Amino acid sequence: MQRYFANPALDALSPEEIYVLQEQRLVPQLTYCRDHSEFYREKFRACGVEPGDIKTLDDLRALPVFMNKDQERLNAQESLERDGHPFGTHLCADPKDIYLTGTTSGTTGMPTFTYTFTKQDVETIAPALGWRFAYNGLAYGDRVLFIFALGIYATSMSLWGLRSIKGVPIDVDARAGSELMLRFADITRPKYMATTVSLSEYLIGKAPVVLGKEVGELGFRGLFLTGEVGVSIPEVRQRIESAYGCRIYDYWAPAGHAIAITCDSPSYSGMHWVAPDLCTSFDDLVDPETKQPVPVVNGAVGEMVITSLRRQASPLLKYATGDIVQVWTEPCPHCGFPGKRAQLIGRADDMLVVKGVNIYPAAIKQVVQGFTPQVTGEMRIVLETRPPRVVPPLKLKLERSGQVVDTDLEGLARRIVGAMHDQLKIRPEIQWVDSGSLEKSTRKTPLFEKNYE
Ligand SMILES: [Zn+2]
Repeated sequence: MQRYFANPALDALSPEEIYVLQEQRLVPQLTYCRDHSEFYREKFRACGVEPGDIKTLDDLRALPVFMNKDQERLNAQESLERDGHPFGTHLCADPKDIYLTGTTSGTTGMPTFTYTFTKQDVETIAPALGWRFAYNGLAYGDRVLFIFALGIYATSMSLWGLRSIKGVPIDVDARAGSELMLRFADITRPKYMATTVSLSEYLIGKAPVVLGKEVGELGFRGLFLTGEVGVSIPEVRQRIESAYGCRIYDYWAPAGHAIAITCDSPSYSGMHWVAPDLCTSFDDLVDPETKQPVPVVNGAVGEMVITSLRRQASPLLKYATGDIVQVWTEPCPHCGFPGKRAQLIGRADDMLVVKGVNIYPAAIKQVVQGFTPQVTGEMRIVLETRPPRVVPPLKLKLERSGQVVDTDLEGLARRIVGAMHDQLKIRPEIQWVDSGSLEKSTRKTPLFEKNYE
């Protein structure tokens, strides 16, 4: 029998039987959360339901959203002040039982330790994270060049998955620079590479300079790319696949949930959700504006809402992710995968992604405004392609004030770029325009100049 799911027992189940399995796990998880977290206890109280009332997925969908990133950050602030740890008031385990923790790459505000696990959590999800890579052929002993910002960042979680299937990660911190990455690619002869879309593109141009050969000569069998919309864009995919001479795969596991990857299909057919027994993410969509439920039918588009089904340390209940996804409920036309598949469409807000780093226009504006009165503070982010993904450098149009002389502009730009790099990890390209030339609106001044429309 063909294996599709991380838990092979699911392969024998119909979609309806998988729903039943999820539903069996709802009451125990929700009860656990209420019993171990004041935050969740208050949420249940506020909507007047008991965990025991939530017996079906429809019951769950009918519940209001409990949490989003902003709420999570408030919870973290509260637990930091009151309990002396940053894991939030939704933490359900004793802080001393935390076995692994990681933050999202958020660039504004307090980092949130969304990826916080007990040992049991890691043992539960690691095989699913591993199977996700194995789905397209990665096997025992295969070396994987693993390039992300490592350490406390969430992407490091995937290393547990790779090790669980006895893959051999060669983990290189992205901050080490392209030369080191390419040298490791050359000498360790990895079969696969896991990294971001933009970094994989960046290395295409760098390889001939650093190694004297093309990336296509490195012999990769596949690239696992995450963190950005890109694999689903045909031009991007064509460009990367033809340069490397192999298939690229889109994968993710937001907050350690919705563990999914694309298959070997020549056209994009969505990330295959290989562990539906661990959460309800592709089964609970809401309208991003109203937060009202969106029926999960083939092709449905909505904001993904996560509810954990087997999580100890930091379970999420009715967590609106801000990720807008399109979900397919029909089997994959290429590989026959019988579960749900999804494509990330974008973010509910205006987030941009530059070289794998999440950038918020408001944060850019804040840095720019720190340079008044030499700048007026008016700005536009110039987008050549549809966001969120921006091929670096990010282009910024800034208004110079009347008091800055031409000869000072270069130094001013350099200082602004330096501040952007320090605070936001980007090096934008600055284009000066005269004071008053960017149109202001009495309502909401646009942040973007969209050249792709
Ligand atoms: Zn497939």
